[in-house]
Amino acid sequence: MQKIWERVKHDFNIKQQADELGLKVWQAPSLLFILMGLIIVVMMAVDFYVSRRYASPEVLVISEALVVSVILTIGTFIIQSIEDVAHANKTRSEFVSIASHQLKTPLAEANWQIELLLSMYQHGLSDRQLEIVSTVSSSLRKMTKLVSDLLDVARIEQGRFVLLRESVDITKLVDQVVLDYNKLAMARGAQLSVTHGAAVPLVSGDSRRLKMVLDNLLSNAIKYIERNGKILLEIETEERQVVVRVADNGSGIPAEQQDKVFQKFFRSTNVIRSQTEGTGLGLYIAKNIVEQSGGKMWFQSQEGKGSTFFFSLPIE
Ligand code: ADP
Repeated sequence: MQKIWERVKHDFNIKQQADELGLKVWQAPSLLFILMGLIIVVMMAVDFYVSRRYASPEVLVISEALVVSVILTIGTFIIQSIEDVAHANKTRSEFVSIASHQLKTPLAEANWQIELLLSMYQHGLSDRQLEIVSTVSSSLRKMTKLVSDLLDVARIEQGRFVLLRESVDITKLVDQVVLDYNKLAMARGAQLSVTHGAAVPLVSGDSRRLKMVLDNLLSNAIKYIERNGKILLEIETEERQVVVRVADNGSGIPAEQQDKVFQKFFRSTNVIRSQTEGTGLGLYIAKNIVEQSGGKMWFQSQEGKGSTFFFSLPIE
């Protein structure tokens, strides 16, 4: 009920809707729909009056034609607004895709040069120089991840996000990701544990992409933990699917922002203050990967208490 009310409030906030869609106020679809509704009611009343007053078929046909042409004119404006938004979205997505592609090569080159510097000349560098080089290397890594996420987002939006269909041993994948993140979790003072049954069946999906999903959920759980962190990964087998859940006792997500969690670029207000790093793209991509693999992704969260993210995948 609350959600419906929020939706109605949003639809009637014409200025906000126009701003969000990048349209002029008079082009906002809600305003045009309301206008169309009002005009239809007025025209019907006039039509009724005219047809009673002048019981002539010609007058009736003319007034009906008038009503239809007004509806068609407003309908054209609505379609035009929607086309403008779709066109702007397509252009933006193409721009992001081209810019990210162009950035990939120089970034790879810079990464390669830094690695070369570290492997060949590390001993010739002073501590301060090494510190600078590793800061540059870490910034390059973050930029590379951002560019690759932006490319994935553009692929998703353009319907070009292709996944393999392989048999995946999800238990093995989880164990591998946990191993990768153990050190980081320990550094953040968090305890990481995994539980799963003995014989978890193989699932269907793209193992490289599914690893990205696990990477995202686990790195979020570690990133948004505050103190005495506990993270639990569980794998359960249900009738026709395997469900993976990642539970943490971290900062949680404020209730009023939870409906936006899977939107791209979303970052909740409670974490922006303490965690400046983050793009808000990880969960958007993760949900797309899971859904394109035939599964579902959802979560439960309570601010200040923690979050549990779930995803299911079809058994092979
Ligand atoms: P990022 O972590 O880079 O900001 P994500 O798409 O992975 O992007 O997550 C989006 C937002 O969802 C985060 O910024 C955070 O506000 C919230 N979030 C995700 N996972 C958690 C978690 N485990 N605990 C608390 N908040 C979370």
